Amino acid sequence: MIWVNQEFETVLGWSVEQLREHNLMVELYPDPEYRQQVTDTIQQADRNWRDFKTRTRLGQVIDTTWANIKLSDGSSIGIGQDISDRKKIVLALEETNRELQHLANLDGLTQIANRRGFDEHLQREWNRLTREAAPLSLLLCDIDHFKLYNDTYGHIAGDQCLRQIARAIAETLKRSADLVSRYGGEEFAVILPNTVAAGATQVAELIQARVQQLQIDHGRSPIAPYITVSIGIATTIPVQQVLPDALVALADEALYQAKAQGRNAYRLYSL
Ligand code: GH3
Ligand code: MG
Ligand code: MG
Repeated sequence: MIWVNQEFETVLGWSVEQLREHNLMVELYPDPEYRQQVTDTIQQADRNWRDFKTRTRLGQVIDTTWANIKLSDGSSIGIGQDISDRKKIVLALEETNRELQHLANLDGLTQIANRRGFDEHLQREWNRLTREAAPLSLLLCDIDHFKLYNDTYGHIAGDQCLRQIARAIAETLKRSADLVSRYGGEEFAVILPNTVAAGATQVAELIQARVQQLQIDHGRSPIAPYITVSIGIATTIPVQQVLPDALVALADEALYQAKAQGRNAYRLYSL
């Protein structure tokens, strides 16, 4: 290297003469493995910009971008730029994107996962449990006579009720891979990975008990003087040839049966 640009001399704290006297690459890239990587990249990437973490004379490691220009006599000149600020912006953008991604999967009213979060989690767990040949259970919980509740107490009270039910269901779940989501208006779906029928039934009973404990007045409900939920349970060991939708359809059928058989009940189907 016979020349580096002025900006880079200033940023690095070395003049090109000093860098020639010392071993340039050893000063800028003290780690032997990383140094080799930088050397190889620069040699291959003539006149292309490449980003590296470079050590300044004061020992600070900064984000830089480098281009190497080979001259006809075999020597080369280097052009470098300090890109620390750009890197900070990129990192901040990535963080913002992660937050947006998270928000995009959340239901605004209840702050639990929304339908999109449900779909993503179900597909991910379906794939994982297919590989493990392990069970997966799904619960669909639907509030009984909720239209009547809204008609009686108003929409604001209805929204408040939805928040309470969401929290109650979330509180019954223990494992980190379990997920409660708002599947639709007054329907909540619960994904229970590595859970067989008996475990799923237990969770359904816990949810119903907890909702009952809330004692949310529903004076006009023909079932009980407070809010109740019906639950459809479907359980299976996932296989590649079957889509997760099949499990959702089965839970939906179980929910329909629980409703037909009087509500405030659960039914279970296995796939
Ligand atoms: P069932 O026992 O058969 O489930 O009867 P239901 O009245 O609960 O069921 P239906 O599907 O007839 O009505 C669901 C009601 O849920 C209708 C709608 O007013 C209410 N709902 C859906 N989303 C929201 C919401 O975001 N806020 C409020 N307050 N109500 C909602
Ligand atoms: Mg419904
Ligand atoms: Mg309902």
